[in-house]
Amino acid sequence: MRTIPLSARTLLLSLVLAAPAASSAHPSGEAAPSGPVLAIHGGAGVVRGNLSPEEEASARAALAQALRAGHALLREGRPALDAVVAAVTVLEDDPAFNAGRGAVFTHEGHNELDASLMDGATRAAGAVAGVRRIRNPIQLARRVMEDSPHVMLVGEGAEAFAQSQGVALVDPAWFRTEKRWQQLQKARAEGAAAERAATVVADDPLRYFGTVGAVALDTRGALAAATSTGGMTDKRWGRVGDAPVIGAGTWADARCAVSGTGWGEFYIRSAAAHQICSRVGLLGEDIGRAATAVIDEEIPAMGGNGGAIALDAAGNIAMPFNTEGMYRGWIGADGVPHVAIGRDDAVAEDGAPAR
Ligand code: ASP
Repeated sequence: MRTIPLSARTLLLSLVLAAPAASSAHPSGEAAPSGPVLAIHGGAGVVRGNLSPEEEASARAALAQALRAGHALLREGRPALDAVVAAVTVLEDDPAFNAGRGAVFTHEGHNELDASLMDGATRAAGAVAGVRRIRNPIQLARRVMEDSPHVMLVGEGAEAFAQSQGVALVDPAWFRTEKRWQQLQKARAEGAAAERAATVVADDPLRYFGTVGAVALDTRGALAAATSTGGMTDKRWGRVGDAPVIGAGTWADARCAVSGTGWGEFYIRSAAAHQICSRVGLLGEDIGRAATAVIDEEIPAMGGNGGAIALDAAGNIAMPFNTEGMYRGWIGADGVPHVAIGRDDAVAEDGAPAR
């Protein structure tokens, strides 16, 4: 595989990170970087202007840390699956994101977590949904994939399986943050007011977004994808979104890997992650076109919104989103993390703020 000079590579990355709606890091015709690649997201729907400088710095640092953690494994020659689990684990443990610690609350005041992952080399997949006491749902999803005959386990059954595997359950208080609790109070108050007025609550990005995800290409050329979320603030009745649904929020095969973030019902109804990869595999579209067709065309046409990260087997990345911002980042052969948040964010290395 040919490599492109670092300056050109950085320019291309600037394009994808700064104007991600329609571009890929290495548009067709360009050579992708040699070596392993890892891309991550920390959720669409973030409004950069609403973040305090401290919150922004901390989120950027966490994204850079997640990129380094996954990339270190890829550099050792470990599988893409290891890298996506490592990167997502860092983000699950960071309260800035709606996954693991810092997850949003259900209507009844619980944190109910969903996660899934897929190995593109084998099409093996694992998922958990609605778990309340699993510190790192992505690691349990991997156990489901490797140590059970099933693909998806939910709720108390998933937690019983975790215990049978020696995974310690945590006190649900581990996941609680005051910021998410206040978001629930606001959502509940708005919901009650809307009920009284018989109107529908306007879409608040904070209700729907903040999921984390990763896609990776390893030194053998294998791909993997992983996604983890607390779902939607104020969700009820055991609602499960797209994140743990293989083919909706997560997909990986031999040619393509995708992790989505957005209004999950629409990702399920469009089989978003699978469809992006099918467009690459069956229609021969490049990853940028395929991701744009689903995220920026089909989903908005249905009334949904959000973003995704997508990676092909040549190392081309696409990061489309149609919300105000999406926490996102990329790391390639040079081992330098690139992180962005807003729509017009410039590339920042090492997680340093760009403004
Ligand atoms: N897709 C997730 C869900 O609907 C939410 C998100 O991306 O933040 O549960």
